Amino acid sequence: MAKSVKEEIRCSFCGRSKVDTNVLIAGISGHICDKCIEQAHQISKDELSSKSGHSINTSLNLLKPMDIKKHLDQYVIGQDQAKKVLSVAVYNHFKRLGQSTVSDDNVEIEKSNIILVGETGTGKTLLAKTIAQLLNVPFCIADATVLTEAGYVGEDVESILSRLLQAADFDVAAAERGIVFIDEIDKIARKGDNASITRDVSGEGVQQALLKLLEGSVVGVPPQGGRKHPEQKLVQVNTKNILFICGGAFDGLDRIIEKRMKSQTLGFSASKQMRQFDRKNLLQHVTPQDIKSFGLIPELIGRLPILSFLLPLDREALRRILTEPKNAIIKQYVKLFEIDKIKLTLEKEALDYIVEKAMIHKLGARGLRSICEAIMIDAMFDMPSAKDVKEFKVTLEYAQEKVDNSEIEGLKVA
Ligand code: ADP
Repeated sequence: MAKSVKEEIRCSFCGRSKVDTNVLIAGISGHICDKCIEQAHQISKDELSSKSGHSINTSLNLLKPMDIKKHLDQYVIGQDQAKKVLSVAVYNHFKRLGQSTVSDDNVEIEKSNIILVGETGTGKTLLAKTIAQLLNVPFCIADATVLTEAGYVGEDVESILSRLLQAADFDVAAAERGIVFIDEIDKIARKGDNASITRDVSGEGVQQALLKLLEGSVVGVPPQGGRKHPEQKLVQVNTKNILFICGGAFDGLDRIIEKRMKSQTLGFSASKQMRQFDRKNLLQHVTPQDIKSFGLIPELIGRLPILSFLLPLDREALRRILTEPKNAIIKQYVKLFEIDKIKLTLEKEALDYIVEKAMIHKLGARGLRSICEAIMIDAMFDMPSAKDVKEFKVTLEYAQEKVDNSEIEGLKVA
């Protein structure tokens, strides 16, 4: 009798008998086979991704451009114009996502890919990263300098999407709503206006290859990145709703802007008008025309319709970056010491000194971290083992001594 009951064991969902399954798992009052587990997993995955799509819409309802900017203000110092432009572009991007198809009036909102121009270390990547965190969408950073035209040594442009897929845990639907930051876009500028006998495989060729990614199309992506090869299984990713933010320092762009502005203001009042322009921050007058003169092809510029700039960080901005952002460098050190139950404080003069060093050596915001590291490293090594240390105050003299003895290239020379 007991034997016949055992033979009756079936999956409680599809009714398959045990012999027809690979695995049959017993629950409190039923069983489930491997096939039903897989199916259920897929259903719950689809359900969750449609819900997260919904959450983007609801977050859009809550997050207006001003809210997005307020959030950026907590992490990024200054760069108000770029923040404003970015907030509006992202808001419009998600409005576009909310518009499922072309509306009755045939008005289709176009993709608002963005190009950010500004010296290195001024916050371009930080802005893009902070936006992605706020929207809770997959985010990746790609370096344009490693890309080459298909068939040449280097990476295919599709490898950019491999990173995004990885960031989305290979959830294609999530990746298709993600944000990609392409850094050093200026490095793929056309190498001069003359047609050359050697092919420009890492310049114009890459720009051409990027076009289809930026405008929105279904692209075969090698899941592990690198070069595509024939036997590899490709994942199809639609880039229609992926927001691309490109950043670059565009060295020499200021001269192009100045030249254009001078030629526009020819005549008697030219020099007077030029004086009215902020010559130190010419980037704020950047136009798509200047980017074209720099060497990006018009088709690419057309697919990056939003253009904004980041200003160089001055002394005051660097000082604020040290202590003000939500995860400011100094706040991070305070936290690290706090874990060892040590109260860390830095004298105002020590903070000013760090900024001064970064300014003198033109290290920008990135340099702040290495200077702080040079000052803190000994204490972070010694203090966790020291008994009865409850407080640690970094004075100006202490900071000066540590920096003078540090190994950081160029810091010792005042
Ligand atoms: P890039 O403009 O080269 O993309 P990043 O955004 O990568 O520069 O900046 C490098 C680091 O410098 C950031 O991780 C951040 O710590 C700091 N930083 C740069 N600019 C700012 C800023 N405006 N506000 C706050 N931190 C900044």
